[in-house]
Amino acid sequence: MRQIVISGNDLWLERRGDTLSLPSSVALPSDGSGLFRFGPDGEYVAFQAPSVEISAGLELRGLRESHALLPADDYAAASKGAELIHWHASMRYCPACGTLLRRGGPISKICPACGSEHFPSLSPAVVVLVIRGREALLVHAANFRRPFYALVAGFVETGETLEQCVAREVREETTLEIDDIRYRGSQSWPFPAQLMLGFTARYRAGEVTFADGELTSGGFFSRDSLPMLPTPPSLSRALIDAWTRGDFD
Ligand SMILES: [Zn+2]
Repeated sequence: MRQIVISGNDLWLERRGDTLSLPSSVALPSDGSGLFRFGPDGEYVAFQAPSVEISAGLELRGLRESHALLPADDYAAASKGAELIHWHASMRYCPACGTLLRRGGPISKICPACGSEHFPSLSPAVVVLVIRGREALLVHAANFRRPFYALVAGFVETGETLEQCVAREVREETTLEIDDIRYRGSQSWPFPAQLMLGFTARYRAGEVTFADGELTSGGFFSRDSLPMLPTPPSLSRALIDAWTRGDFD
């Protein structure tokens, strides 16, 4: 059994020599209502634990930082566990009638009053690499905490397709027109509950103008003059790396 022990937005990891790994010996909470088992044979168990109950030998690390510390399978499980814990803490009352929800299936809750069943929700968001000749559009958003450049991104709105969302976000944030929108892959993004969907598109028309205030700078960059880029594991970085390798030529 490997444990995903969450405190706030962080993860407790066990130190063995130079490596950090998911722990296996943290005392399980006596109330099982906040405990989630998943993976082959219930290999992973996720729960929230206040720091006062944590034993020695454990270190608290950010979930995103843990990507570089854990094997890929364990990081994916930790991401899922963190999403389930967030959902459990934030989805407490029935959205239809306001009654306190009970645990239903492995990842669902049931309303004892009206019988409705509720599952963790995801917010789909797109990132798009806009290509113009041998250059790609990289932008800096007002909400980035570090001075890196990434891809145009935004949340999918009710009633639109992914392709419409990609075209709308590029138009709203830069005023550019694009075409040849192609899906390139997806990534779970548990900060706290997003699904990132990656696209490429070809520049069609327009001059880069930061129209709606979300972006503060950016433009078209060639492969040999790239600015500071987002660190892995972001899908933005994976798409930029694929483009620099020539995968989209
Ligand atoms: Zn209800």
